[in-house]
Amino acid sequence: MTTADLTLDAALSEWSAQYGDHTAVTDGQTAWDYRQLYEKTLVLADLLRKRGIVRGSRVIMQMTNTVWFPAVFFALSRIGAVPILCLPAHKELVIGGICRNAKPAAMIFTRRYLKFQYEEMAQNLAAQYGCAERLFFEDEFAALTSADADAALERERAVTDLPSADDLAFLSLSGGTTGIPKLIPRTHRDYLYNARVTAERAALSAESVMLNILPAAHNFALGTPGIIGTLMCGGTVVMQKYPDITEFFANVEAYGVTITSLVPALVNMCIRYRNLFDDDDVSSLRYVMVGGAMFRPEEAEAAERLMHCTVIQVFGMSEGMTFMTDCDAPEQVRWHDQGKPSAPEDEYRIVDADGNDVPDGEAGEIIVRGPYTIRGYYENPDANRRSFNSAGYYLTGDRALRTPEGNVRILGRVREQINRAGEKIMPAALEEWICRSENVLECAVIGVPDAELGHKICVYAVTEKPMTLQELNAFLKGEQVSDFYLPDLLRLTDALPLTPVGKVDKNELLRMLEQEERS
Ligand code: AMP
Repeated sequence: MTTADLTLDAALSEWSAQYGDHTAVTDGQTAWDYRQLYEKTLVLADLLRKRGIVRGSRVIMQMTNTVWFPAVFFALSRIGAVPILCLPAHKELVIGGICRNAKPAAMIFTRRYLKFQYEEMAQNLAAQYGCAERLFFEDEFAALTSADADAALERERAVTDLPSADDLAFLSLSGGTTGIPKLIPRTHRDYLYNARVTAERAALSAESVMLNILPAAHNFALGTPGIIGTLMCGGTVVMQKYPDITEFFANVEAYGVTITSLVPALVNMCIRYRNLFDDDDVSSLRYVMVGGAMFRPEEAEAAERLMHCTVIQVFGMSEGMTFMTDCDAPEQVRWHDQGKPSAPEDEYRIVDADGNDVPDGEAGEIIVRGPYTIRGYYENPDANRRSFNSAGYYLTGDRALRTPEGNVRILGRVREQINRAGEKIMPAALEEWICRSENVLECAVIGVPDAELGHKICVYAVTEKPMTLQELNAFLKGEQVSDFYLPDLLRLTDALPLTPVGKVDKNELLRMLEQEERS
């Protein structure tokens, strides 16, 4: 059997044999070497089996960034159970909706995170969906796996009915929707490949120390290359539980972190922090991978300058495909583009509204297909008709162009385009212009329905000092921005609302504005 034919847990068994006593994962309280992580996985698998979790059982898994996340994930993988990976920010509405569709057999929750008590929600959901006997909280696992561990190991090692590489490994939740997320089915084979090709592109090795601050349940943190990509190379994963920037830099210094993955909102927090305090030792940090949302060239430049690192831009999606810039890409590419597909077999096209390829340099929707990109959502034929074309390409809804060097540059969402009295405005372009003002720290542009114009342009901005709409527009005119791009509304705010993985939540901004207009 080659590595490509392994399941995730069988791969962990190989890594454990190969990297043995090298630290695999730490969260500041607990550190496990590869052998210990693997043995924890076996003991957990035995425990979960005893509580009735079997092959094919769907398990709601909402855990935070501790060492227990990978242990539970690999244990479920060994059983052949299917974790449904929820983020800590998902609450009853989303998880309840998923339960209705996916009918879970068990649930694993965090008890409390960032002031939110999940316990009551978990108990309600478990009672409602018949999982009360199979409800676990992450803080119980240490005690549950400490007694009788040798016997548990022996029992688990004797199990022979194990899943295979093409079985479903987990379901993750699609991002960017206002309703119940769609379920994204990933197999062991596709996900190990996903982690391998992205780990190679990020030059991961046994010397790598990956700081994991994004929620582990998200594709970027889990396997792009994230936790799994680091483990397959024999590196060390540092799990940071809270998105706290002071702690982030303390961890970089304490663990000699060499690489981390961030969304742009977190990079901006790092930039602001380093502008104020630059006394943490960041000399170990080589690469900062940035993806998940629009990232401006000035931000990339500032991140490299202030964090003494090289930026690797990532354009990817939980549905699979990941584009990355190379570690040694020139500045021009690193700061402006999102690079090339991770695997040689990956295919992509940039097409117009009729599905015809556009010439290089022209913008269109980027559509993708490849060995680790899904061909359909889990039990959702309606969504599949909308999101995939007849040749199996996933329609990303992202607007992109191909540069003369063959890199992609993401320009925003196709449908995010604001149509103001017939003029088409791309929020991402306007955001870039507005952020050129020294007074603006961050901003987001949304289209607001308007009876006369179709849409008005509204800007939410975080500024150094107060600013009026007139001042903003005077600044934009000075930048030679076309008149039809000038915003109609400006709202100042202390912080932009973020989605569960830290992208700016434009749906929430729209809701805020609607609420303001109603009151
Ligand atoms: P998710 O499945 O949550 O990872 O979200 C995937 C979506 O995030 C993509 O379809 C894009 O809309 C957006 N995205 C990911 N990476 C980038 C990037 N580098 N620049 C702009 N948008 C991005």
